[in-house]
Amino acid sequence: MKVFKFGGASVKDAAAVKNVFEIIKSENGKLAVVVSAMGKSTDLLETLIKAYFNNKDEKWTIFSNFKNYHIDIIAGLFGEKGMPQGVYELFSELEHKLNTRPSFDYNFEYDQIICYGELVSTRIISDYITATGHKNTWLDIRTCLKTDDTFRDARVDWDWTGDLIRKEFGFNGSTLFITQGFIGSTTTNLTTTLGREGSDFTAAIIGSSLQAESVAIWKDVPGILSADPKKMSDTVMISELSYKEAVEMTHSGAKVIHPKTMQPLHNKGIPLLVKSFAEPQNPGTIIHKIDHKIELPPIFILKENQVLITLSALDFSIISISDIERVVKFLMEKLIKVTLMQQSAIDLNIVADASDENLEEIFSELSADYHIRYNTGLTLVTIRHYTEEVLDWMVKEKDIYLEQHSRLTARMLVKE
Ligand code: ASP
Ligand code: MG
Repeated sequence: MKVFKFGGASVKDAAAVKNVFEIIKSENGKLAVVVSAMGKSTDLLETLIKAYFNNKDEKWTIFSNFKNYHIDIIAGLFGEKGMPQGVYELFSELEHKLNTRPSFDYNFEYDQIICYGELVSTRIISDYITATGHKNTWLDIRTCLKTDDTFRDARVDWDWTGDLIRKEFGFNGSTLFITQGFIGSTTTNLTTTLGREGSDFTAAIIGSSLQAESVAIWKDVPGILSADPKKMSDTVMISELSYKEAVEMTHSGAKVIHPKTMQPLHNKGIPLLVKSFAEPQNPGTIIHKIDHKIELPPIFILKENQVLITLSALDFSIISISDIERVVKFLMEKLIKVTLMQQSAIDLNIVADASDENLEEIFSELSADYHIRYNTGLTLVTIRHYTEEVLDWMVKEKDIYLEQHSRLTARMLVKE
């Protein structure tokens, strides 16, 4: 069997859904299809959750937008025939939820609402496939993807999930399953999620549990490129990568695949394909076990919204291991993600993800022991397989705040 995963952009309107169905139809064997919420509806639901949690009436306008966006797609798919009842039941459930009073746990409430993006999306697609006369089974993945109760960042219970997936995906009755990415549930059946963009990970969980022949992620790019084409020109397509290379790239900030996707596939030796839903006949990129050496071009990965924090001891003492330990522990407690560190005798440089962090609060605590200097709005550029030429070009183009080189990887913190 194989696993296909389609992201939001691949099902953003009726024409896109029809294209996805063509891709599904071209596969003859047993297939599990994982689909995300349509278009940008997860972003829209995030605004709905904020309004709901803060008891704002605006929640009803956002709810209407969410509903109408899908009703337009339904009209484009089903026309006069109208849509089977299932999706309207989901809208009513969500409406009912919005009429109840929120608890005090934001992350819990988030997961109970955000799941409707994927539930509605998969319901529409499954019913559409049925309406065209093709048998398929809609599966609520929450019945088998079991997690702990860390809402918004749940940890998977692998053994239990594997058993349930093998039980629920019985390919005897149906050869096609349509299910959701991103969502799961606790022992007590509360909805949880695996973190934003987590559907790729779901596809890998299903693929590894069923020992799939391959997992394919269908995207709006031809495959994995040497840089994000929206940010850099002259990108080249990479046809083959090792799991390790793919983990390094995605961990450094390449958004093409969720970084957690590779581990389960690597451990079972299952190839991961990244393919274009616009040009399905093209081979795309294959990530698999590679024993031979392959030549890769310099690969650029950009991570934006970084802050550089430089700490030096108030008493002019030298930065010691215990300083590093203390500061890292403190930042971890504050849920700050450190992306790079560098130290000299007097300075400890920390680069961190500063998208939502409360820098003021952090600085006020650290300033008891350290002088603090900082710069915000920086981008961390990672260059895998760098050449001297590429580094020279980079230095000419940008103001560099910090640099770190290893054998294969150069990392530079630059101003936009
Ligand atoms: N719909 C979710 C998101 O946009 C999950 C996913 O697409 O992978 O984050
Ligand atoms: Mg999505």
